Amino acid sequence: MFSLPRTGICSDEGLTDNTPIVLHGHSSVDFNCLLDHLFGKLQDTDSDSNGDTEQVNNTPPESVSTLVSLLTISAIFDLCHQFKILPWLTLAFRELVSLPIESLGPAGLEKIPAYILHALIQVKHQISTHRLTLAAVVPPAMAGMLCHTPMSCADGWETGWKAGPAEMLRHPDIFYSSWDILAHLNSVEIPQVCSDCQESSVANMKETGCLLMEDGFVEDKLEGLRAWLMSH
Ligand SMILES: [Zn+2]
Repeated sequence: MFSLPRTGICSDEGLTDNTPIVLHGHSSVDFNCLLDHLFGKLQDTDSDSNGDTEQVNNTPPESVSTLVSLLTISAIFDLCHQFKILPWLTLAFRELVSLPIESLGPAGLEKIPAYILHALIQVKHQISTHRLTLAAVVPPAMAGMLCHTPMSCADGWETGWKAGPAEMLRHPDIFYSSWDILAHLNSVEIPQVCSDCQESSVANMKETGCLLMEDGFVEDKLEGLRAWLMSH
C-alpha cells in the first residue's frame, strides 16, 4: 500500500489519525477493495489472453465477482487507471459488455472514461453485426460419415437454423449468448437431420469458431485497452 504511486503526498500520510490516507473522489468501499486487491484477496482467477498476468489458483473464483457488486463501474475504471490494475480492467470491461447499454442510463454513461466508452460502443457494434450476419447466413451443413440422406439433412439443417438459432440471435426481448445457442444445438433434435449430420455440423461450427467469435472481439478490444492503460 505504501509503495503506491504518490504525488505531492506527505511522507507521514496514514501514520496517524491526523494524517489520513486520502484517495480523492473515492469512498472507503473503493479504498477497501483497493487494499484487498493489493493484499491478494481480490484476484482475477482466469489468466489474461496475453498470459502476462500471473494465475492465482488458491483464490475462490467468486471473490473477484464481488468487486463489481461492491464498486461502481466508474470507480473500478478510475482505480484501475490510477493504479494500473489490469485484472480489474478485464473484469469490469467484460461486465460492461454483458450489460444492455440502455441499462447504464445517462448518469452512468457519463462516468465511464471516454476511451472505455469508445471501445465499448465499437465492440457492441461488432457483436451485433456479427449476430445479425449469423442469423442471416446459415453455417454450412456437414454430412456425417454414416449419413445416408445428406441432401435432406442439409435442407433440415438450414430450416432448423432459421427456426432456432437465427430467431435466438435476433430475439427482441431475450438475450441468448452464443454459449446458449451452442447448448441449444447440442440438446435439441432438429427435424429431418440425422444425429450424425447434426453432430458434424455443430463440430464444424466450433472448429471454424463462427458462433463463438464474440468472446474474441472482447478479448481483442481488451488487449488494446490494457496497452492504453499501461501507457497513460
Ligand atoms: Zn444426415
